[in-house]
Amino acid sequence: MQQSVLEPTVFVRPPSRIRQLTFVGLGLCVAALLAGFATVLVQLHMPGIGAPFLPTAKEGHIAEGTVVTLADADVPAIAQLEPALLDALRRAETEAVAAGAPGFQITSGWRSESYQRWLFDDAVEHYASEEIARRFVATPEASSHVTGDAVDIVPLDAQLWLIEHGARYGLCQIYANERWHFELATSPGGTCPEMKADAAG
Ligand SMILES: [Zn+2]
Repeated sequence: MQQSVLEPTVFVRPPSRIRQLTFVGLGLCVAALLAGFATVLVQLHMPGIGAPFLPTAKEGHIAEGTVVTLADADVPAIAQLEPALLDALRRAETEAVAAGAPGFQITSGWRSESYQRWLFDDAVEHYASEEIARRFVATPEASSHVTGDAVDIVPLDAQLWLIEHGARYGLCQIYANERWHFELATSPGGTCPEMKADAAG
């Protein structure tokens, strides 16, 4: 017959455990204090943090209904375009207007990184999918508006003129789903590269 041995159960909390808990508690307090301090510092130096971002003209935003042309050299969206692009557009516009096409109105040119991020985040929210959003709005890392290498142009007749004759100045439509978006993409008189389906392509 096997004898069962019942060992007495003794709960002895090692004294080091209490010390450990005290240290963890103190550590958490210090971390919370540091986090609070850091937040105050960041807010002091960057007042925009915490407030919703709204793009301004300084960020390259062109308000709806505002007419901006290539002559508006004091508008950041135009001023911060790559000089070669601006030059090609101005020369193309002169020929377009002489041929009876309307002058170019710029609805978007250079955009700051934060503005592009805001546009992208907005698209992600709108489509409820980052993958779909990428087809319509480039990320700040990918956008040629952020580097000053792209413009969006209206009206339709100006777009159609550029689509037909822009290559003479190196200007090309880049995305099949953006008839208004032009970049310098070939040498003057060259052939435009095959269009990408959309900004994700
Ligand atoms: Zn564009």
